[in-house]
Amino acid sequence: MISLSSNIRFERLSTKIAPTMHGITTLDEVPAKKKHITKTKEIVTTVPKTIVLPTPSTPTRHLFKTPVTLAIGPTNHPFHLHLEALCSISPFFSAAFNPAYSFRESVTSTLSLPECNPTDFEYFAQWLYTRTLTHESLDGPHPAYFKLIKLWKLASFLGITALKNSIVDEIGWRADETNSVPTPDDTRSLWGGEEEMGGLKELVVDLFAWKKTDALVQGHPDSWDERFLRELVGRLKRKGKDAAPWRDNEERCRRYHEHDRLAPMCEGVEVLKEE
Ligand SMILES: [Zn+2]
Repeated sequence: MISLSSNIRFERLSTKIAPTMHGITTLDEVPAKKKHITKTKEIVTTVPKTIVLPTPSTPTRHLFKTPVTLAIGPTNHPFHLHLEALCSISPFFSAAFNPAYSFRESVTSTLSLPECNPTDFEYFAQWLYTRTLTHESLDGPHPAYFKLIKLWKLASFLGITALKNSIVDEIGWRADETNSVPTPDDTRSLWGGEEEMGGLKELVVDLFAWKKTDALVQGHPDSWDERFLRELVGRLKRKGKDAAPWRDNEERCRRYHEHDRLAPMCEGVEVLKEE
């Protein structure tokens, strides 16, 4: 359940998101002949005016129609993005920009998110348009686990399941590529907060259980989060001789991913029936 923080501010600007902003719907929900987007206010239609959310088969001309500005952080750092792209991956943005959710007259093309960090938001914007996490400050000889964990928290706040899945995939891949694991600080960041970080914690415990980390865990001068160590002991007692789960597409999906309407099941992975 996504709730809109009271810190979100809608600002009146001259560039209103005009007639297309009266409702948000998916392509599936709209009869084929409906006129979704009207260019001028003079065109009167009796159907609800809607934003067409993209699916993989949506023609490019329907994407990136409505520019919006997101003012991020206490300094209102501006990000100029596209409404359709934002709404297609995040119920948070669908709600925030939907006048039906009590902001009927005040929705404009600017949304302020003062509690978000502009750097994290830039990684998100990069992912939004490229579906990769290959930002220049995420690349490098040492994996930026700390930054990716912070990005996961942002993704969680914004309800972006597909980004959370991309982050766990990236962390597993980078851990193998550099033969490294997260630091004691990272374990405290993961286990110390209130956030639900199930899939990501699961992966981190698996990385420590399957990689050769015994000397690292015993000898590191910084302290590990105690709850992390308990989970690691439990995992080591149970893990058996199975292969490292993050290297297997199905196991990775089942153990670390979440899937929902905006983040459909990974290809080739069957949904397990509940016994
Ligand atoms: Zn998956």
